[in-house]
Amino acid sequence: MNKPDVLIVGSGFYGAVLAERIANVLGKKVLIIEKRNHIGGNCYSEVDKKTKIEYHKYGTHIFHTSNQKVWDYINRFTEFNNYRHQVLTNYKNKIYQMPINLETINSFFKKNFQPQEAEKYINDKTKKFKKYKFKNFEDKAISQIGKELYNAFIKGYTQKQWGKSPKYLPESIFNRLPIRYSYNEDYYQQTQYQGIPKNGYKNIFINLLKNQKIKVLFKQKYNLNYKIKPKYLTIYTGPLDSLMRYKFGKLEWRSLLFKKEIKNVKDFQGTSVINYPDIKNKFTRIHEPKHLHPERKPFESKQTLIIKEYSIKNDNEPYYPINDEKNRIKHRKYKSEVSKIKKFEFGGRLADYAYYDMDMTISAALKKFEQIKKKIK
Ligand SMILES: Cc1cc2nc3c(=O)[nH]c(=O)nc-3n(C[C@H](O)[C@H](O)[C@H](O)COP(=O)(O)OP(=O)(O)OC[C@H]3O[C@@H](n4cnc5c(N)ncnc54)[C@H](O)[C@@H]3O)c2cc1C
Repeated sequence: MNKPDVLIVGSGFYGAVLAERIANVLGKKVLIIEKRNHIGGNCYSEVDKKTKIEYHKYGTHIFHTSNQKVWDYINRFTEFNNYRHQVLTNYKNKIYQMPINLETINSFFKKNFQPQEAEKYINDKTKKFKKYKFKNFEDKAISQIGKELYNAFIKGYTQKQWGKSPKYLPESIFNRLPIRYSYNEDYYQQTQYQGIPKNGYKNIFINLLKNQKIKVLFKQKYNLNYKIKPKYLTIYTGPLDSLMRYKFGKLEWRSLLFKKEIKNVKDFQGTSVINYPDIKNKFTRIHEPKHLHPERKPFESKQTLIIKEYSIKNDNEPYYPINDEKNRIKHRKYKSEVSKIKKFEFGGRLADYAYYDMDMTISAALKKFEQIKKKIK
């Protein structure tokens, strides 16, 4: 490509949606550079060669939104199936529903409560803890669900996820542990739309980037001295600390490691995701991706693919920001520095050092397009 009009760094949802808008609405040439060997960022899906089962390389991704604009937009690039997400948890070899609901409470405490009885039972267990000022994650969690449920379902899982005891985690890491006094087990019960793209996530990105005016270069890592300078703008969706050569220090992230196994059974666990809160299991979850596509008749095959998820520390493969005060201060410094660079925009989960669901990322990219389109004409 001769000099592009816009250079975009990263082909995840933030970069791909902006590329689509700039090429299709403004008719401008976009060059995307991507350090990995594939498009799609962390939402990428691929087919396992041995079992032919499609899986999400960076962890199970469920599309869910109540944002009509995002839903209408994304449906131009994919059809969704009717998958409804449910999460189960395996505590001491017994399966319970998550988030904690009436079924979890009755099964765990061996009761047969009606909703109001269960609510009163939990309130009686938590009221003495509500009086105290919460100092940490553990205090806050116990004040919401009581000690027994916390110890069984939350403590070990949180410890594995963050690599330290919840006693040493700030209470700000979560706002509220959902607890339901009904048998509703739809994980995203408040959300208007949900599903899995029928042809996989990879195909959404192929469709988003279809315009001939968009070119993607793989295995190229951007830095501020990058050789190709665009006519109008660079839009950067990577982390700000590496961009600025860590001048204010490294931003810290939790990362994940996935280990695949093939099992010679048609169905291993009967659902797509099961949590493992016990500390003795090193992994936090087991994914079984064939459950995400019931429309593909997955159980005709005699094999299945499972993926164990481990939570690790690795700032070079960022998944979840360690969003504490120290890191937020560092990020603010980077943000203020990068904002001064001319013809340079940034956004997405890595640059913003934030956890965004896919619909939030798409919505943010659509808004960004409206803000910057005048600068490109
Ligand atoms: C484990 C996990 C599970 C999730 N599950 C869900 C879910 O079920 N539902 C949901 O809605 N959301 C989910 N999400 C969130 C979802 O992954 C994000 O919303 C989405 O990936 C954000 O897109 P992005 O473009 O901002 O970032 P990314 O997808 O990370 O894309 C950024 C891209 O930029 C590239 N890049 C970075 N730096 C450079 C550089 N210097 N040079 C070149 N390329 C670079 C990266 O390689 C990457 O491809 C999940 C996230 C995680 C971590």
